Amino acid sequence: DIDPLNVCAVDVAAGEGARILPFAAGLEDEQFEHDGQITKREIRAMTLSALAPRHGELLWDIGAGSGSIGIEWMLADPSLKAIAVEQSPERAARVARNAAAFGVSHLAVIEGTAPDALKGLPEPDVIFLGGGGSEPGVVDTAIAALKRGGRLVANAVTLEMEAVLLSEHAKRGGFLTRIEISRAQPVGGMTGWRPSMPVTQWRWTK
Ligand code: SAH
Repeated sequence: DIDPLNVCAVDVAAGEGARILPFAAGLEDEQFEHDGQITKREIRAMTLSALAPRHGELLWDIGAGSGSIGIEWMLADPSLKAIAVEQSPERAARVARNAAAFGVSHLAVIEGTAPDALKGLPEPDVIFLGGGGSEPGVVDTAIAALKRGGRLVANAVTLEMEAVLLSEHAKRGGFLTRIEISRAQPVGGMTGWRPSMPVTQWRWTK
């Protein structure tokens, strides 16, 4: 269900069906076209807070999935730029469609696999690592590319990726957070907490 307070208010001036976007991040998952590979609303809101966009910055959204992180980054301010990198051709096309639907078509979409797909891209101020981080060379390439003083935020749902983040945290410092979200859902005729997979988040400034 879509929370009507968060989205889809009808703007009388703009017309029936127009969307009024809130200032804060954390749009409903259903606002994006996705195949289940999407950072859930609550986790996404916390991730955008950790990414902490500032005027004019460029984000790399690696393993962009539906593009929701890069899109919410772009929506925060018109000065912001983002490059979404996604290995699945189907999902890369979906990122572009989602970006267009939100009026942020200036989000660049690179269909390719990190780390190779990162070569030659403009130097990022901020990197989000949402996929591919446990594959060889991805974290090192991302960190090497990041500007000095730049920020990196990485989310892990798999143990393999979590192991990478624990090791990076031990080596480089930064902050580790474990985020566990449950949503109330129908259980028989009643209601119960349905937990989603816990997310381990590492944020670090170069
Ligand atoms: N943050 C996304 C969800 C990411 S799911 C969202 O909110 O929609 C992880 C994604 O990473 C998947 O789409 C997967 O295809 C992609 N991926 C995994 N390894 C990758 C790699 N090495 N390079 C690029 N994309 C990768």
